[in-house]
Amino acid sequence: DREVDHATADGLKTMADEGAIDALQPDYIGLHAYREFGGYALLERVRSRELSAEAVMNELADAKLRGLGGAGFEAAKKWSIVKGYPGPRLMTINGDEGEPGTFKDRFYLESDPHRTFEGALIAAHVVEAERIYLYMRDEYPAVLAILRREIAALEEAGIIERGFIELRRGAGAYICGEESAMIESIEGKRGMPRHRPPYIAEKGLFGRPTLNHNVETLWWVRDIVEKGGEWFAAQGKPDHPGLRSWSVSGRVKHPGVKLAPAGITVRELIDEHCGGMAEGHRFKAYLPGGASGGILPASMDDVPLDFGGALAKLGGFVGSHAVVILSDQDDIKAATINLLEFFKHESCGQCTPCRSGTEKMVELLKRPCHLDEETLRDLESVMRDASICGLGQAAPNPVNHLLTHFREDLG
Ligand code: SF4
Repeated sequence: DREVDHATADGLKTMADEGAIDALQPDYIGLHAYREFGGYALLERVRSRELSAEAVMNELADAKLRGLGGAGFEAAKKWSIVKGYPGPRLMTINGDEGEPGTFKDRFYLESDPHRTFEGALIAAHVVEAERIYLYMRDEYPAVLAILRREIAALEEAGIIERGFIELRRGAGAYICGEESAMIESIEGKRGMPRHRPPYIAEKGLFGRPTLNHNVETLWWVRDIVEKGGEWFAAQGKPDHPGLRSWSVSGRVKHPGVKLAPAGITVRELIDEHCGGMAEGHRFKAYLPGGASGGILPASMDDVPLDFGGALAKLGGFVGSHAVVILSDQDDIKAATINLLEFFKHESCGQCTPCRSGTEKMVELLKRPCHLDEETLRDLESVMRDASICGLGQAAPNPVNHLLTHFREDLG
């Protein structure tokens, strides 16, 4: 499948060179239209110090904006940690949207790219970053074409200096969505996660303090500062501040990017945002956070979806908010094998628990007769405790849920 993906992407790139990509490009808000409706006025106010860096940080803190690439770290806290280390500092934008089922960043960059740019430029100004590296998933050729064009437009308009935002293309490795592996990749090395500490806020890209953010996180900065942090926080469910962009796919009538409160339940997402289940399908299970967040049964359809909390207690994880809906026509064991094969393929191979653990889990799950649950449980705890990064730590989640909640699918 990946080969087909790459072939398609390469084909589109060739078409892009020939100008044919224009026909494929979505109708997005370009620089002129964005400025016509007040775009970059906030950046100007921040740069001219009419609005202080402290005021911007206060709004972000009031908003309780969290990193929406998957980790959920508080944005305001991250900015102040990075700023606390001596410069020169750098900034990275993680556009390597590789979590299966996630497509919200693509949606925003294909519709309103300057909102993310403005958020990024405000962030760079506040933490005094010298340069921004935008690491973009190569499987999004239309996005890459838009970004190239709009970065050039920003330079042309004098909003940024030439080279201030540098676009870097990823090469299809899931692990490069992990921030330290992404940084290795930008530095021209093989994308493998670093041991921490030091964290990238202290020693990141080229050894400098680095502020890294996901595309959507930055997309919210303008609205939060203009409308107020309290406005944003109030959009969520009680005790779950803020709005989130949910990538919903699978057996629903209307899949897509759904703007909905943090803390929403999967039942509300299906019924109120996706038009219910697809014809002929009965809700059976869901992935709350792409491949990494595990698989929960439909009986747990009232769990607030957010970082930590009740979902974490169930061994689930909301991550990049990719919700995949499965039905009575889906085999959960087959889905689990599929996810584990994905992790096996994408493991960077640096540490044994993940490299061998994912391989062994696939082999154990595929055995035709006896399912060795004891070894699977043993592997699960070793991988969780001893893997270097989130890939190896999260890979056993679907296996844990299969053994706990879907015994009828064990076969
Ligand atoms: Fe690489 Fe897996 Fe170890 Fe992460 S957990 S460093 S992906 S081998």
